[in-house]
Amino acid sequence: MSSTEALEVLSKVFGYESFREGQQEIIDHVVGGGDALVLMPTGGGKSLCYQIPALVRPGTGVVISPLIALMQDQVDALRALGVRAGFLNSTQDPDERRMVEAEFVAGEIDLLYLAPERLRVESTLRLLDRGTIALFAIDEAHCVSQWGHDFRPDYLALSALSERWPDVPRIALTATATKATHAEIASRLRLEQARHFVASFDRPNIQYRIVPKREPKKQLLDLLRTEHAGDAGIVYCLSRRSVEDTADFLVKNGIEALPYHAGLPAATRAEHQSRFLREEGVAIVATIAFGMGIDKPDVRYVAHLDLPKSVEGYYQETGRAGRDGLPSTAWLAYGLQDVVQQRKLIDGSEGDDAHRRRVSAHLDAMLALCESVDCRRAQLLAYFGQSGSPCGNCDTCLTPPESWDGTVAAQKLLSTVVRLRRERRQKFGAGQIVDILLGRKTAKVIQHDHDTLSVFGVGADLTEHEWRGVVRQLLAKGLLAVEGDYGTLVLTEDADEVLYRGRKVPLRTEPKRPAKAAKAAKA
Ligand code: ADP
Ligand code: ZN
Repeated sequence: MSSTEALEVLSKVFGYESFREGQQEIIDHVVGGGDALVLMPTGGGKSLCYQIPALVRPGTGVVISPLIALMQDQVDALRALGVRAGFLNSTQDPDERRMVEAEFVAGEIDLLYLAPERLRVESTLRLLDRGTIALFAIDEAHCVSQWGHDFRPDYLALSALSERWPDVPRIALTATATKATHAEIASRLRLEQARHFVASFDRPNIQYRIVPKREPKKQLLDLLRTEHAGDAGIVYCLSRRSVEDTADFLVKNGIEALPYHAGLPAATRAEHQSRFLREEGVAIVATIAFGMGIDKPDVRYVAHLDLPKSVEGYYQETGRAGRDGLPSTAWLAYGLQDVVQQRKLIDGSEGDDAHRRRVSAHLDAMLALCESVDCRRAQLLAYFGQSGSPCGNCDTCLTPPESWDGTVAAQKLLSTVVRLRRERRQKFGAGQIVDILLGRKTAKVIQHDHDTLSVFGVGADLTEHEWRGVVRQLLAKGLLAVEGDYGTLVLTEDADEVLYRGRKVPLRTEPKRPAKAAKAAKA
């Protein structure tokens, strides 16, 4: 019976004809009063999984969401559909808040959005006691996971919901869940007994591509001109400065690009966001602050000019492409400098060692994905505990990377690092090591007498580009590590296996420079 009611709401309120994969089962379960933990990729249609039960069940659906900046938009969108919705968060003035509270108590709201920190306040809990609650929806549930990439301490308090309202069904939803995060969400939110719904994380219409970073802005421009002329897309950069530079560069080259980062005035941000959403073919150049909860179906590409900090983040950000199911591109340019920079951030970050180890593990997993010789999609799915066969559509499937026996090269490089380590006070990064291997008498090489080392010039058989690739891959394999402010290269314990115990090191061949760049280099 509930099924027909849900279907009716789907068509009458939301204007859709049929449910997407998984939605109906979840909705029926929650309408029936059951708890649910939902893992579904971005764009899968999670919102309806709690919105429809909230409309079908008596009372108000209380939605806990960390996305304060989007609450107004979400509520406006629901109101436009005729759904009675409201929100309570810190951005409101007291009058507005009192009005929403009164509506809730009077049973005049179907969906109430709450920031998690509200639930730490006793008065909010008492307010909730005075109304009828249809269900609790905990959106972005991975925020409760300390192991995850987006931990919010306020989420920990949500475990108390089941004690105070044992009869109210709870549905937790997330688009990011490795096995470890999944288990942690279940236990921290007391959802062990809940039914778990795990949708496939495969996004077959997204083509994943990861390329070595050379001249990132030019590489990006090339991609946009050749494959995505006139398309809407998101370009992610790590810093505000590179957001600005990149947006300027694109505009100068005839691409309609708008910057978006937390340092811009709120009005500018709002305007850029709304132009991206409403106009056609706008490229938004943003820090990762942009995108959570953004619902634009025809984003044709997501480009990363810097290495994301985790596979979860990468998956979530790239997942904003192609929600309409049409072919889309996820393109990432990454280089050695990204690794050095992120290690530096991790080393200098606040927090204890355990925190640093966690963040490092996330970075390592991301690096392994970048340097993989296997199908990117299969690797991504495996990361989320799902299996997939080679997709035939990602860069490694389309142009399988060739591999070569890099054992000797690795030994040369690692023993150079060993030699430099003996000079206790001085620390050297990849640049100096590559110069030594290539036998370059730079000022810095001469200053430190590095041209007298036995390894000086032993690597002349490879190019600088290839050596940098070797460094990256050894980092990804955990045979080398980066340390400190200057990106000093150090050996890991495993490096001994290569240096002294005959471990083989297969490496992927570096893609050739494009013809144009090669010509320019000669000129
Ligand atoms: P998620 O929260 O999982 O990222 P959303 O709930 O925002 O995804 O849904 C993504 C898009 O898909 C939205 O535009 C939504 O309206 C649309 N959508 C969801 N369910 C359906 C459906 N059954 N039929 C058609 N469109 C749907
Ligand atoms: Zn593939």
